[in-house]
Amino acid sequence: MRVTIPRETLEKIKRDYNVSEEKATRLYLNAFDEAESHFWTVIEERMSEEAPSGGKQSGIRLYTPREIKAYLDKYVIGQEEYKKRLAIAAAFHFAMIKQMREGGKDSSSLKRFRKKNTLIAGPSGSGKTYAVEVLGDLLEVPTLVVDATDYTEAGYVGKSADDMVRELIEMAPGSSKQEQADFISRNGAIIFIDELDKKAREGSVGHDISREGFQRAILKLIERKVVSIENPMSPGAQIQDLMDRQRGKKKQDNTLSTEKILFILGGSFQRSNENLEQIIKKRMSRKAGSMDDQGNLVISGFNDSANRDLTDYKSYYPFAEEDDFIKYGLIPELVGRTPIRSYVNHLSKNDLIRIMNDTEDSLLKQYQTEFQSFGLDLQFSDDAIEWIAEKAEKQKTGARALIGAWEDVLTDFQYELPGSTHRSVLVSKEVCEQPKDYLLKILSRSPFDDFSDGFYNEFGLNLEFDSEAQDYVREYAKSGHIQVSEALKILLSGASALNYMGYKGVFQITKPMLEEPKYFDNMYVEWHKRHVSLREGGVS
Ligand code: ADP
Repeated sequence: MRVTIPRETLEKIKRDYNVSEEKATRLYLNAFDEAESHFWTVIEERMSEEAPSGGKQSGIRLYTPREIKAYLDKYVIGQEEYKKRLAIAAAFHFAMIKQMREGGKDSSSLKRFRKKNTLIAGPSGSGKTYAVEVLGDLLEVPTLVVDATDYTEAGYVGKSADDMVRELIEMAPGSSKQEQADFISRNGAIIFIDELDKKAREGSVGHDISREGFQRAILKLIERKVVSIENPMSPGAQIQDLMDRQRGKKKQDNTLSTEKILFILGGSFQRSNENLEQIIKKRMSRKAGSMDDQGNLVISGFNDSANRDLTDYKSYYPFAEEDDFIKYGLIPELVGRTPIRSYVNHLSKNDLIRIMNDTEDSLLKQYQTEFQSFGLDLQFSDDAIEWIAEKAEKQKTGARALIGAWEDVLTDFQYELPGSTHRSVLVSKEVCEQPKDYLLKILSRSPFDDFSDGFYNEFGLNLEFDSEAQDYVREYAKSGHIQVSEALKILLSGASALNYMGYKGVFQITKPMLEEPKYFDNMYVEWHKRHVSLREGGVS
């Protein structure tokens, strides 16, 4: 390809940047290359903005439930039933909005369509919220996740239920609140209210007026309620109101109706007494079953595999019915207004492994990308992934525990490796079991030096370990199946007393000091006694 550089431009570059003709030519050609690579991107962007339909500007694209489910599958492992129902709710909700917007001949009859609000129950950390966030990404509509416990009935203390809508408006594109609200009126939006179970009545009615009040407050909201864009109680809105009245102006009321907002209500419905699973279990055993001698529920009418589900995995969420939620403490009207109900399962070790390996934005890929930015290649062995899954499963907090488990292993690596000469690390099960010792080994640093360095930085005192002391620490770690670095922390937890006693320079650590758990405590007590008696001019 031939490039002609206009003389004028070349002269301008030379002049403005005070460079030679040759340098100006190179600068021009580099800029030309880069500009060319942007060329098609710019054209594509312009065309999609102008496109009459299907483009970003025109908003709603019609997705089928299958398409939505296929997208959720890329990110959310398991939870098939939930993903399916969520896909149905969203596909039909947004299809209705599309019809209303395009004003087909029956659009007026669509005005009062039955909303596909959804109620979802199941253990924490198993994907209830996550699936909704992924859904929001796909549909490109404002998606707000809130915690019910942050809101009250009318906002006497804390936020009111209507505030949710105002928070949602803030998430929409637009240069004013009105424009943002209009965006939602045109395109719809999603609100996920988590922890709804914390707003359930417990025990006698009357006792729990405020929790029931919240449920009543969202009753209208999740169907169709006209909410002011500005919080009427906010100081700004009140001053505006006062000024409008003084000027004899009619109160300006900018509002948004919630009919285009799809609501998903979720919770674990667990509590110490009478939780949802117990309620379901009780109802089922009353209805059809009996307990066998191991306490397993035997239900007639279920085939074997269903029976096995109940007894082996003890998950009752799939069998939740309207009455169970009411018995738990939801008001019947609210349950009635969430026509789509679903559940999520406890995540098994296997699920957790799949979450780490198979999802589009998996935690492991994230760590790899992070390390990659420092030029480090991070790999995980299968037994390491399994080890973490086992550890996380025991925590009973679902997939959330994975992050904590990996951070425990990788924290020191994240601190030490960027900027070091190391270029690759394979994280194996052994590394997971002893991350710090392993790291120190590859950095060719002894755990004793590492401990001393830390101690010196903290207290300004150099600790030295004689060989007998080192052997003792290693043996202690081995027999307790812990890392040497951890053993040092335990055995020397009292050594900070040296700082209070004013030691400086070098302090020799010997085996007897480590053998006696209270060695440094005793040393301090003695020192203190001497110190006090000296100060008081004592006789000892
Ligand atoms: P909850 O069920 O309490 O709403 P979340 O959906 O917030 O739990 O899950 C917490 C995190 O755990 C998510 O952000 C996601 O990273 C991960 N996670 C939970 N469940 C799954 C799942 N089934 N598939 C993939 N990731 C999951």
